[in-house]
Amino acid sequence: MIEFSVLGSGSKGNSTFLRINGYSFLFDCGLSCKQVELRLEKIGVSPSSIDAVFLSHEHDDHIRSIHTFSKRYNVPIITSEKTFKAGRLDDKGIKDKVFVESGKTFSEFKGVDVFFIPISHDAADPVGFVVYSEGIKFALVTDLGYPTELVSHELKGADALIIESNHDPEMLKLSTKYPWELKQRIASRKGHLSNGDCARLVERVISDNTGYIVLAHLSEENNNPDIALMSVSRVVKGMPVSIDIAKQNEPTPIYSLSKVEKV
Ligand SMILES: [Zn+2]
Ligand SMILES: [Zn+2]
Repeated sequence: MIEFSVLGSGSKGNSTFLRINGYSFLFDCGLSCKQVELRLEKIGVSPSSIDAVFLSHEHDDHIRSIHTFSKRYNVPIITSEKTFKAGRLDDKGIKDKVFVESGKTFSEFKGVDVFFIPISHDAADPVGFVVYSEGIKFALVTDLGYPTELVSHELKGADALIIESNHDPEMLKLSTKYPWELKQRIASRKGHLSNGDCARLVERVISDNTGYIVLAHLSEENNNPDIALMSVSRVVKGMPVSIDIAKQNEPTPIYSLSKVEKV
C-alpha cells in the first residue's frame, strides 16, 4: 500500500509526503520547517520518521527549509548535483547527500525505484519523479513549461498522479498584478503548465489504473480551483478516478492506494 499527501503546493512553497514499502519520503521542502512539521503532524506523521528528501529543483519554493529540516532530523537529501550546487546547499552545511543524474533511477531503498524525469523549466536540472514499488506507480510533476514526449511517456498509466495545473491563460493575460516579463516567463516553455496543457497531458497518460489525480502548484493570482478542476474533469469523464486540488495553506488528506490485481 502507498500513502501520500501534498503538504502544501503553490508559489509560496511545495512539499509532498509519500509512504511506500515501509519508507517515508518528502518530495521538496519549500515550506518553512515549522509548517512542514505542523502539516506532517496534522496527517499523523512524525517528522523524525522521514527517511529521505528528494529535491526537484533549486527554486526557493521547493528548497526553502531543506537545510534546517535535513539537519534537525538527520535526513539525507537526494537530488542532482546541478540542483544541489544551484541551490547553494553546500554553503548551508548540508553533508548528507546523494546525487542522482536526471534521466536515471535511484534504487537504494529496497523495493523502491525513483526515476528522475528531466523536465522543461527554468532551473539548472529540474526533474519530476516517478516512483515504482509494490506494483504501484506514483508520479509527481510540477514546474513544467511544457509536457515533452518523455514526460507523457513516463507518466503513462500512473496509479496516482500529482500534476501541475498552474494557470488559466486568460486570467494570466488580464492580470494587472504581474509585470509583462513575469507573465512571459510563466507562459513560456520553461515556465509553468496551464490548465489546458495539464488536461491534455492527463488525457494522454490516464489509464484504468489511475485512482487519484491531484492538481498542484495552482497560481493564487491567475487560476481558480473550479476552472482547473473542470478542465481536467472533462477529459476523465466516466473514469473512476478521484480528482483533488492541493492547497497552499493546508495539507490534503492522506490518500492510500493498494494494488488490486485486475482479472
Ligand atoms: Zn515551484
Ligand atoms: Zn520552479
